[in-house]
Amino acid sequence: MPELPEMEAWRRQLDDPVSAFPITKAGPAHIATLKTFEPPLSSLEGRRFAGAERRAKRLLFPTEDGELVLLVHLMTAGRLKYLLFGEKGPKTPAFQLTFEGGARLVLTEAGHKKRAGVWLLTPDEAEAELAHLGPEALGLGAERLAEICTNESRRLHSLLRDQRLIAGIGRAWANEILHRAQLSPYALSTELSAEEVERLAGAIDDELTRGLELRTRGANDKKTYRVHDRLGAPCYVCGTPLARVDFDEHTIYYCPTCQTGGRVLKDRRLSRLLR
Ligand SMILES: [Zn+2]
Repeated sequence: MPELPEMEAWRRQLDDPVSAFPITKAGPAHIATLKTFEPPLSSLEGRRFAGAERRAKRLLFPTEDGELVLLVHLMTAGRLKYLLFGEKGPKTPAFQLTFEGGARLVLTEAGHKKRAGVWLLTPDEAEAELAHLGPEALGLGAERLAEICTNESRRLHSLLRDQRLIAGIGRAWANEILHRAQLSPYALSTELSAEEVERLAGAIDDELTRGLELRTRGANDKKTYRVHDRLGAPCYVCGTPLARVDFDEHTIYYCPTCQTGGRVLKDRRLSRLLR
């Protein structure tokens, strides 16, 4: 799933083009993709977006008149593309907007499952829709992170991915961040020292900034991730082969030397415990 660096890179790319011209045609939209019917999608027609904004892993396109907000959540497989007039696009996009002059904003989704969503909301409804999200991960800071860590006793990998606590990090960047912070994915948030919290806050900013820079330049996963999805590859700090363990529904990648004092983490999925 695209996370904060990926979404922010897209937001920057879309900010100018989506606000350049008014919308002439809103739709078609797949019935499973468009999550709202009031106000109708056609009420976007004739309006212009003010630009592209982002909250956590969602993109927001507010109209210039301040009356409507288009909210897009790409989930795992959704992709947004801005196509110039005449540029070839998918035959059946999950969602499409056409701008004056013929450029299009197109949402596609690989695979059969339609998980990505588009909501057309009033600004108040958009605010309510986003109210459950925690503070943005980038620029969070050690003080705020320390509060989050003490309020709830959680394993770090799971805490970082909980959007209600910290918004914008998923499993890939949680792997990169914890490796950078040299902390175990299984460490309990309430047991961190002040110095470790500071290190974690620094790692969140360092890694998300690194990711954003790379994604802005169009780097692919292989060029971006140094730990995530790299089982057996040498750790970029110490050379130890990176390890992998299953946790909840996720797979964690880590360096046993840098992060867990040489210990190999045990599978903690519920199914394994029940066996
Ligand atoms: Zn290492």
